[in-house]
Amino acid sequence: MGDRNIDALLSEQRRYPPPPEFADANAGPGFYEQDPDAFWEREGRERVDWFTPFSTLREWTPPYAKWYLGGKLNACYNCVDRHVEAGAGDKVAFHWEGEPVGDRLAVTYADLQRRVVRFANTLKKIGVGRGTNVAIYLGMVPDLPVAMLACARLGAPHTVVFGGFSADSLASRINDMGCQVLITQDASWRRGRPLPLKPVADEAMTNAPGVRRCLVVRRTEVDTPMTAGRDLWYHEASAHVDDDAANCPCEPMDAEDPLFLMYTSGTTAKPKGIVHTTGGYLVGVATTHHYVFDIKQSTVYWCAADIGWITGHSYIVYGPLCNGVTSVLYEGTPDFPDKDRWWDIVERYGVTVLYTAPTAIRTHMKWGPEFARRHDLSSIRLLGSVGEPINPEAWVWYRTHIGGGRAPVVDTWWQTETGMILISPLPGVSTLKPGSAGRPFIGVTPSVVDDHGYPVTPGEGGFLVLREPWPAMLRGIHGDPSRYLATYWSRFPGDYLVGDGARVDDDGDYWLLGRIDDVMNVSGHRISTVEVESALVDDPTVAEAAVCARPDELTGQAIVAYVTLKGGRDGSRQAVATLRQHVAEKIGRLAMPANIVFTPELPKTRSGKIMRRLLRDIAEEGTLGDTTTLADPSVVEEIRTRAAAAA
Ligand code: ATP
Ligand code: MG
Repeated sequence: MGDRNIDALLSEQRRYPPPPEFADANAGPGFYEQDPDAFWEREGRERVDWFTPFSTLREWTPPYAKWYLGGKLNACYNCVDRHVEAGAGDKVAFHWEGEPVGDRLAVTYADLQRRVVRFANTLKKIGVGRGTNVAIYLGMVPDLPVAMLACARLGAPHTVVFGGFSADSLASRINDMGCQVLITQDASWRRGRPLPLKPVADEAMTNAPGVRRCLVVRRTEVDTPMTAGRDLWYHEASAHVDDDAANCPCEPMDAEDPLFLMYTSGTTAKPKGIVHTTGGYLVGVATTHHYVFDIKQSTVYWCAADIGWITGHSYIVYGPLCNGVTSVLYEGTPDFPDKDRWWDIVERYGVTVLYTAPTAIRTHMKWGPEFARRHDLSSIRLLGSVGEPINPEAWVWYRTHIGGGRAPVVDTWWQTETGMILISPLPGVSTLKPGSAGRPFIGVTPSVVDDHGYPVTPGEGGFLVLREPWPAMLRGIHGDPSRYLATYWSRFPGDYLVGDGARVDDDGDYWLLGRIDDVMNVSGHRISTVEVESALVDDPTVAEAAVCARPDELTGQAIVAYVTLKGGRDGSRQAVATLRQHVAEKIGRLAMPANIVFTPELPKTRSGKIMRRLLRDIAEEGTLGDTTTLADPSVVEEIRTRAAAAA
């Protein structure tokens, strides 16, 4: 047997110390020296308002944690009402930008309060109250955060399902959570055309008989089937409804009461319904948002994710609104009407913080920097990345072409389950390294261990685990307590198994190495997918790459690389040789792909993550696993054809 740990192959030497403009950052020198319990105690008391203060910081009986015990609060009150009461009613909560050009709306905190109250009172009319489970199937319209906050106001747990998911995916989430009410819209705008949602919701409801009522938000003019007795247009149902906050009090919730359920992206397996609570979650997301993104009064913040995944919940809705920030909310795709749409938005609103995913950055790389060059992006002060490991070349491209060669990039590592950012650089403290997620946030105690659970030596790769609980930690998998134990707590009892590989360097900075399920074993060496992919993306012709292993008689496993070239070009025989050579030079011959397949797209989840398990299924010529969260099923067929031709 070879090495039991993951071989760390890639070495990235570029360093970026904190720029002088961050001398007064929210997190400055000494930040990490604070006592974790004192820190979370203080943030708990000061960052959110409680109806009843908590009496105990936390209770930890592995694998179950509770935070801010005895406290009573309401997430909607913290995100909306208290800002209005404090005199910030005229501040813009979000600049909403519809996909059709010119379709815009500025929603102040006072507007938001009226909208949320009206929505909450309408929900009450159809029987929603404390403990009623509500499913929300909406695109990125203003009513999406409004509906979530209205649920939170009433103490009704919500689950938001991506506007692009199928009827089956929607029905299975509704049934799993036992939702009685569904909120949807007629159609959403997608690349200039209305994409009907209500018919998908109808199909889902035929398989989800528990839904009593369906509220339908009007977004377009398309004809929409309505079922009498069950379906209601929101604009009709809410027409004469009171929007005075005084007549719609915020339900006092226990810190440990559930706020929402969020299903994971389904990158590695069937999605899990993750339970998040009110107190610890809200404190966790607001606190990390404040420090990681260095939020000021004047910040114009844009998280360009979809609210339908955890990043949108924590860092579009609950964190930023709890902090009283002005944000941007964009409805459409980055290439409508042209590939410079994002940069037009950044310029128009003077965005100072932009938070997006490596997949989006690599897409912009593929299109080329000329689209960003059409606009003045000088307002940008800080950039963030989340969702996948960011390849160093994409990191540097982002800083150079979007960040004007000056804005720090914070690569934030976390999961649906963690609820909040757990590992990230801090812009006023950290010396940045492209490809590294920096240090654990205060109170977060990760460790990198080997097969037997023993910590590996610095520089070596292994399994990332978490030892102490954190405030926004999941409280379980809905309806499946045994899957909670099996997925996270059985491999190394007492430690939370993250499912990602990592290594720590001599400075204590973390480098994420991809999913442990995806680690490849070539001639006894365990090789991380991320490092080989980063070496490929380092080649100036490559926009994106994904690797996986196939069985090989000689080496046990051999590496297959799927590569997208910049400008979407096809690769030549020469290109194959050049790329293999490039990987050999960057990280060693061991990691050279045996096959390279050129493809215009990679299979991704709806949240933009590469699904390597499907590539593995293709490489092994096996049947495909769960594809319900795949963004575009036709990509898989295309790759299958190309892989067969390249073999
Ligand atoms: P499933 O759990 O259903 O397989 P998923 O893990 O993709 O899906 P998410 O919770 O959306 O579901 O994603 C969390 C994962 O995303 C992390 O475990 C990690 O693999 C990856 N990830 C997120 N941010 C980063 C980052 N900054 N660096 C590296 N990996 C990241
Ligand atoms: Mg996961």
